[in-house]
Amino acid sequence: MFGLKPDIAIDVSCEYHSMDDYVNGVAKWCPGCGDHAVLTNVQKLCRDEQLDPKKTVFVSGIGCSSRFPHYMDTYGFHGLHGRAFPVACGIKFRRPDLDVFVVTGDGDCCSIGAGAWIHAVRYNIDMTVLLLNNEIYGLTKKQTSPTSRIGTISNTTPYGSLIPPINPVQTTMGVANVSFVAQTADWNPAHMYETIKAAHAHKGFSFVHILQRCPIFQPVLADKMISERDQFCLLQHENGITLDESASKIFNNKIDHDPFDIGEARNLAEDKKYNYLGLFYQNKNAVRYDEFGAQNLGFTVEQKKAALNVELDKFAV
Ligand code: SF4
Ligand code: MG
Repeated sequence: MFGLKPDIAIDVSCEYHSMDDYVNGVAKWCPGCGDHAVLTNVQKLCRDEQLDPKKTVFVSGIGCSSRFPHYMDTYGFHGLHGRAFPVACGIKFRRPDLDVFVVTGDGDCCSIGAGAWIHAVRYNIDMTVLLLNNEIYGLTKKQTSPTSRIGTISNTTPYGSLIPPINPVQTTMGVANVSFVAQTADWNPAHMYETIKAAHAHKGFSFVHILQRCPIFQPVLADKMISERDQFCLLQHENGITLDESASKIFNNKIDHDPFDIGEARNLAEDKKYNYLGLFYQNKNAVRYDEFGAQNLGFTVEQKKAALNVELDKFAV
């Protein structure tokens, strides 16, 4: 036995998960689509955080980015249009032991799912939300979405869209009980990784708005995202997203922003001068609805009946 005593016990219960443990097949998004970068980043985070694939759930709605759960070798739920949030809230409410992610697009979240989105922010149930915003309906081949900017030419607005777009960061920060709002971009894997990592670490509804390239139906925007770097400004603060020197030096524009300051966070979200990347706002003390739901989850049927009778007896006459 090469010096090992035969009665020695080695704990092999701790299983290490490699990247392959989170990968399911080859993603069928178009070449150059920003979704690929988000997927790789999330799989890397799962590996680094050693998330148990059997205790991790990815929930989505409908759209290109909503194919995400198919490519994760975890549990997943590819839902209906705009209905990722109610499904994810239900999962986390009854199974607080699970790690829940929502992947949604601008059409899915900001159009048909807008009502569910607003209330999910307010309920502040612990989950990591990735909104991949390419400013177009990609899956159905180019219709104007709620986040398409004025002048967008598509199948539904052939002479250019007329109505100002929804700003998802601004909208989320306008909801009561908001607890975490950040913005990143698919072309910067280092920043995206740190942002999603911080979102995952936050206990509550972590909303990450990802500026996502669609080179097929938004080629001009996709090109500008790479070629016009001065449109971006990095948010820096000791309470924000930490980025090492080599990753942050590519940004020409940087400002200090304390993410505990919601007034300034809202000002930045409305500011059209830059696309700010980083943590806009965080409130670690916002009320979480899942903490109420987690109470008494271990009750037996008999215990539930007894507890119910105690409550009903209060109204007996
Ligand atoms: Fe990505 Fe656009 Fe292709 Fe959809 S249509 S997979 S968003 S590049
Ligand atoms: Mg879209």
